[in-house]
Order: sequence, then C-alpha cells, then structure tokens
Amino acid sequence: MPDRFEGVKQIVSTVLFAEPASKHSSLGVGGNFSCLAFPATEEELIRLLIFVRNEGFPFHIVGNLTNTIVADAGVDGVVISLKGMAGITVEESDDAGQTLFIRAGTPLRDLVSWCANEGLTGAEFCTGIPGTFGGAVVMNAGAFGGEIKDIIVKVRLLNAAGLLAEIPRERLFFGYRSFSAGEYSIVLGATIRVHKGDSETIKREIARIVLLRREKHPLEFRNAGSVFKNANGIVVGRLVEELGLKGTRIGDAQISPKHGNFIVNLGKASANDVVALMELVKEKARRCEGIELEAEVKLMGF
Ligand SMILES: Cc1cc2nc3c(=O)[nH]c(=O)nc-3n(C[C@H](O)[C@H](O)[C@H](O)COP(=O)(O)OP(=O)(O)OC[C@H]3O[C@@H](n4cnc5c(N)ncnc54)[C@H](O)[C@@H]3O)c2cc1C
Repeated sequence: MPDRFEGVKQIVSTVLFAEPASKHSSLGVGGNFSCLAFPATEEELIRLLIFVRNEGFPFHIVGNLTNTIVADAGVDGVVISLKGMAGITVEESDDAGQTLFIRAGTPLRDLVSWCANEGLTGAEFCTGIPGTFGGAVVMNAGAFGGEIKDIIVKVRLLNAAGLLAEIPRERLFFGYRSFSAGEYSIVLGATIRVHKGDSETIKREIARIVLLRREKHPLEFRNAGSVFKNANGIVVGRLVEELGLKGTRIGDAQISPKHGNFIVNLGKASANDVVALMELVKEKARRCEGIELEAEVKLMGF
C-alpha cells in the first residue's frame, strides 16, 4: 500500500490501492489507479475531499466508468467512485406522479426498474445505459428522444472544498452530452419528477429499447458506448461507415463492424489502441468531409 494514501483508509472503508482500471471500466482498458476510494456517504466524501485538498493530492470523481477511457499509464492521485452512494427516496407521491431523490451512485437500471414497478413514465429512455445516475447528470445522458435534463427538478452538488449547493434546473447548464454548474462540479444526486403512466405501455417501451440496443449495439464486446458526439445533423455511425472505417482494427481495439460509433475491445486492447483508432476516425472525417468530430467519451490520465 503506498504510504502517502494511507490516510484515505482512515476516512473511507472501501479503498483499493494499485488497482487496475481495466477491471472497473466498461471498455476494459487502463493502467493502475494509485488509489480508488468508494465513499458510502456524503459525510465520508466531504471528509475525503478536505483530506485530499490538505495533502495536495489530485483527485477525480467517477461513477461506473462506462463513458471513460483510462490511460495505459494509469492515474495517480485519488480516484473517487460514487458507486457506493446509491439509493432512491420518495420525496412526494401524488395522483400525478412521484418526486424522487436519486443518489449519484444509483445505477440507471435501478431507476428504470423503480419507475416500471411504480407505473411511472419519463425515465424509459435510460434503459440500457450502464452508468450511474450521477454520471448521467454530468453527461446529460440521453437516448431515444429523452435526456436526463428532461426529468431533473434540482441537482445536489458539492464543490472541491466540500461546500454543498442545491441548484434548480433553470440555473444549470445542460447541453448535448454536457452539464455545468460552475465550480459545483460534483453531483451528489438530484430530485427528479416522473409522471403516472400506463404500466403496460411503460414495460413495452422498456422491452422495445432493450431489443433495439441488442440489435444495433455490439454488446457482446466491452465498449464505452458512443465514442463521438453526433452534431449538426451528422450521425457519426453512418459517417464512419461511409468513410469505410467500420471493422478497422488497431491491436485488439476495433471500430465495431456492427456500429461505426462504437470501439470495442476484442480482448487485450490498450487505451493507446483505442485512442489511435479515435485519431484515425477524426483525421479521416476532417480530411474527407471537413468534419471536426468531438469525443463523447472522457479521457482520464492522458
Ligand atoms: C453499452 C453502452 C451504451 C451506452 N449508451 C448510452 C446512451 O444511450 N446514451 C448516453 O448518453 N450514454 C450512453 N453510454 C455512456 C455512459 O453509460 C453514460 O454517459 C453514463 O451516463 C456514464 O455514467 P458513468 O457513471 O459510467 O460515468 P463515468 O464514465 O464514471 O464518468 C463520466 C464522466 O462524468 C464524471 N462523473 C461521473 N460521476 C460524477 C459525479 N457524480 N459527479 C461529478 N462528475 C462525475 C466523470 O469524471 C467523467 O468525466 C453508454 C455506454 C455503454 C458502455
């Protein structure tokens, strides 16, 4: 155990040292995290932030690492996963629906099943997105015509000094796969509003999305979802196909033959292989079509 991070153990009970990121990221690449901590409560998280600040350690907040490519060299400092801070609380329940508080670490799949069981509509679009709720807020995750911002009432946030704020949606910036609350960059959770709907219709919609995802996405291999943002009417999957890049392989990383905006790990891909493929796509899109692609996935430790 590296001595300099020993203090983290005094604050958070679940801490891993020299932990391979590849074990935790959906894409299955990345070197070691020097220190990976899973606070269980807001209090633990705040104490941890104060500790890393006092010690001058760099820190990174993550969820389930399903939208993140971790560098082969790993990440020094303290990586704080909020997966341990999960749960759904009913704030209000009436004839029209429910107002719920969703903690950052809650898997989106739990939100989808909660809503399906309670006959609530609004969150069906989250079906099959494998991240945490906090990660979905930060990414303004979306699919099938819905985005997280559509159901948000207010977001509970922290800044790096451990100060709390609750900010209503109107005062937050939600863009296409982006979110900003100024210095309050850590999402602790959010209050959402979902509406009473017809249970059967909701369950049918969820089943429809599951099937569509199975059909269109290369779920048989490890991946990090869409690599680039669709923008200005450009559907990246189609563009990559037109550029003739589907199936292109560098090492064990491959542009999925099934979906051009997915890079899959065929087994032993490195982060460098994945980034090299991304560069190849960007360069060809620029040269052949004059299109500047922007990454949707987040790079960490590069
Ligand atoms: C098979 C597959 C399908 C996918 N389909 C979709 C889709 O349809 N639509 C879509 O939008 N995305 C999709 N994704 C991408 C991904 O699941 C979403 O972006 C998800 O919301 C990321 O959540 P996460 O917890 O894994 O975030 P991470 O990858 O852990 O983090 C993503 C970013 O958010 C930051 N972050 C995470 N949690 C917090 C927090 N609580 N506070 C502050 N910062 C935080 C991290 O620092 C990082 O910059 C897909 C991914 C896969 C693998």
